[in-house]
Amino acid sequence: MLLSPLLNKLKRFEHGFGTRLDEIDQSAMASLRQVHSNRVIRVERESCAGEGDALITQTPGLALSVRTADCFPILLADVRTGAVAAIHAGWRGTHGRIVFETIGEMHAQFATNAGDLIAAIGPGIGACCYQVGEEVARLFGLGGRAKVDLAQENRAQLIECGVNPERIESNGRCTFCEPEIFYSYRREGEKAGRMVSFIRPLPSP
Ligand SMILES: [Zn+2]
Repeated sequence: MLLSPLLNKLKRFEHGFGTRLDEIDQSAMASLRQVHSNRVIRVERESCAGEGDALITQTPGLALSVRTADCFPILLADVRTGAVAAIHAGWRGTHGRIVFETIGEMHAQFATNAGDLIAAIGPGIGACCYQVGEEVARLFGLGGRAKVDLAQENRAQLIECGVNPERIESNGRCTFCEPEIFYSYRREGEKAGRMVSFIRPLPSP
C-alpha cells in the first residue's frame, strides 16, 4: 500500500492507495458502482452507495473507498471539519470536473473551505503512456492525437477551487509503466484487476 506523506502526517485520518499486491476489503467501507460520471454521494455507513464516482462523509470511523486501474484515485481531507472525500477520476470524470463537484458538495454539506483541504492524487496512468485520440484530446484543449496528463489536470482543478498548491501531493507513479506493482486497464484490458484506495476520519480518542 502506498501512502501520501502529506496525509500521513495528519493523525486524524487514515488512508492508503492500494496496489496489486494489497488485498483491501471494501465490505467494511463505503463504496460506489463507478460509472465515470461526476456524481458525488454523501454517505453515513459502510455499503455500496449506488452509482457515482465520488464519496464524501464527516462520519468518524467510516472509510470511503474507490477502485482504479489507470484512472486516478484522489483523496481529500478537511483538517478543520474532519470531512473527507474519495474520488475516482478518469478522463470522463476529469473532463466533468469531478474535483469541483466534490469540493462544492463538501462546502454545501460540511461547510468545507478549500483552503483547509489536503489533497492526495494517487497512482494512475501517466502522460508518458496516455496517448488519446483526437476527440478526447480536444476536450483537454489539445490538438490531434495527444498525451493527456490527468494528474496535472486534476491538480489544476484543485488549485482553481482554492486548494493551496503546497497542500496538494501527487504520487507520480504510472500504472502502465509498473506492471509488477499496478493493474492497468490499458495494458491488461477487461481482465485487469482493480486497486482499492481509501480514506477514513478516525474517531476521536
Ligand atoms: Zn507510463
